[in-house]
Amino acid sequence: MTLDSKIPAGPLDKKWTSFKNTAKIIAPNNKRKFEIIIVGSGLAGAAAAATLGEQGFNIKCFCYQDSPRRAHSIAAQGGINAAKNYQNDGDSTFRLFYDTIKGGDFRAREANVYRLAEVSANIIDQCVAQGVPFAREYGGLLANRSFGGAQVSRTFYARGQTGQQLLLGAYQALEAQVARGSVKMFPRTEMLDLVLVDGHAKGIVVRDMITGEITTHAGDAVLLCTGGYGNVFYLSTNAKGCNVTATYRAHKRGALFANPCYTQIHPTCIPVSGDYQSKLTLMSESLRNDGRVWAPKRKEDCGKNPSDIPEDARDYYLERKYPSYGNLAPRDISSRAAKEACDDGRGVGPGGRGVYLDFSDAIKRFSQPVIEEKYGNLFEMYENITGEDAYKRPMRIYPAVHYTMGGLWVDYNLMSNIPGLHVLGEANFSDHGANRLGASALMQGLADGYFVIPYTIGDYLSTQFGKKVDPKHPAFEETRREVMERTQRLLNIKGNRSVDSFHRELGLLLWDKCGMARDKAGLTEALERIPQLREEFWKTVSVPGSGAELNQSLEKAGRVADFLEFGELMCLDALTREESCGGHFRSEHQTPDGEALRHDEDYMHVAAWKYEGAGNKATVVKEPLVYETVKPATRSYK
Ligand SMILES: Cc1cc2nc3c(=O)[nH]c(=O)nc-3n(C[C@H](O)[C@H](O)[C@H](O)COP(=O)(O)OP(=O)(O)OC[C@H]3O[C@@H](n4cnc5c(N)ncnc54)[C@H](O)[C@@H]3O)c2cc1C
Repeated sequence: MTLDSKIPAGPLDKKWTSFKNTAKIIAPNNKRKFEIIIVGSGLAGAAAAATLGEQGFNIKCFCYQDSPRRAHSIAAQGGINAAKNYQNDGDSTFRLFYDTIKGGDFRAREANVYRLAEVSANIIDQCVAQGVPFAREYGGLLANRSFGGAQVSRTFYARGQTGQQLLLGAYQALEAQVARGSVKMFPRTEMLDLVLVDGHAKGIVVRDMITGEITTHAGDAVLLCTGGYGNVFYLSTNAKGCNVTATYRAHKRGALFANPCYTQIHPTCIPVSGDYQSKLTLMSESLRNDGRVWAPKRKEDCGKNPSDIPEDARDYYLERKYPSYGNLAPRDISSRAAKEACDDGRGVGPGGRGVYLDFSDAIKRFSQPVIEEKYGNLFEMYENITGEDAYKRPMRIYPAVHYTMGGLWVDYNLMSNIPGLHVLGEANFSDHGANRLGASALMQGLADGYFVIPYTIGDYLSTQFGKKVDPKHPAFEETRREVMERTQRLLNIKGNRSVDSFHRELGLLLWDKCGMARDKAGLTEALERIPQLREEFWKTVSVPGSGAELNQSLEKAGRVADFLEFGELMCLDALTREESCGGHFRSEHQTPDGEALRHDEDYMHVAAWKYEGAGNKATVVKEPLVYETVKPATRSYK
């Protein structure tokens, strides 16, 4: 199998314009003839549904929450990047593009990333027009702050609630279309499978989460906007509901899963506090604009009150190791540096797994009210969780799983290798390479939904005139039957071990063997253990209740069953990629000073995995990454 990424010809900065000038589009009077299924109504899905609905397509939009407003996007705190150069500090489309490519350790596609940088400015205009209350400077202009991996201030924010405000903007645009009748919303409805007719994605199988009814929906194209899979690790900063089911089940129907091992571990989270914790909390990266990260220089100081540790006994390790970016070094690098300090016995707090994020200098420089104005809600959240006042005592932070750069493989049109199946937002693999820079996920989700798919979907739909599928086609009933059998199989096990206990064991194993650092021995061990755990699951899991009612154990069991297969794919990908790049750090491949060591000659490609049937090893299809404009170099933030 070969992959055609459909990158337009021509110079990098003209590709998107020339694509738009020549794209196949559907005439206004024909748009209403097409029905598009959109799964997910977070930023990517809501933006796509609102825009395509406004254009005149008929949209059916599905989510498992009770309202699109509760999508995980609402949790995003810090901000959204855009190359507006409001600060006049040297930003440009090219600089945002270059920072993103370099941030991803030269493992993303140039053309997609350049397009993302190009449309970033449109996103801000669109959101302002919707009334999103971005922070403003005294004079009324939109304010910016800095995020990791950039030396300019290009991050637009709404205090520590940027995702919430952006989602409310997208939600109201979506609701306007619901009111107009162009979008029909299906909340509390979980997609459990993809229906293929003659090899094209033509529908989905869903379960009504209140009544348990399992039904099918037919459409002319399917868009998956179902978010990331960070919860495979059990503990993460993601909302508890985030899962891999939609993308993994599409994978089992033939969609290639690209770079599943690329996971982002965020350096600034509240450390784990106990064995039975089920969720981790992010302290936004924006805090590193003003907070300084440090660990004690001497092990003996770790138990002391931080204010009793004098300045010269503190190791501001990011400022020391990466003087040009300092506390704003990218996430993968900052996370590894925190781990290194803790592995060295210099961690603070319970279990020695924490470092300090200290605001005392910033408070002296700007005053407490100024810091409160910028980050007040984050300080409150920290105090609610830890009982500590971070204005008086440095925050304790430690890395945690946060985002997944891997996802279903898509071409320039955001279409997977299954014709008709498009994938947007965190669910696809496309723009972030091996490490995502802060504030670029919101940018990508909204770019995909508001500005990319509305232009690219015509390429597929224009081939579908007169090919509407009959919802009575046997493929629908057959897929529905398979879903029902699987659901019943879970209910019939009637074992004695909880779904959560399997999830926790899998998560700990992955954190240990496929987390911040990976090696051949650990990954091989995980690849032996995961199939055993999966077998135990299918023999001993306890799923109480029935399928014909609200049954959260059943919902979780289905998702954990997918994680138990997907975790193996992650480890296989991590084992196969014999190099370190971005968040994928193979201990065997590092520079003498402990930085990631890439092997471009062998691994400058996207690893897209093909499902080969239950119990069989997945096979890899490679998409070579060709850099025509940038010259891949060793990533340095020193
Ligand atoms: C705590 C936190 C803070 C963050 N802060 C930032 C930030 O400041 N800046 C930034 O750029 N990024 C940030 N991120 C990342 C960013 O929030 C996400 O990557 C982004 O919001 C994902 O948007 P999405 O639309 O792709 O998916 P989501 O918002 O996760 O939406 C997924 C949608 O899919 C639906 N869905 C999923 N599976 C199914 C199914 N099987 N059936 C039906 N529906 C389904 C869900 O119901 C939901 O509607 C943060 C992430 C976290 C965890």
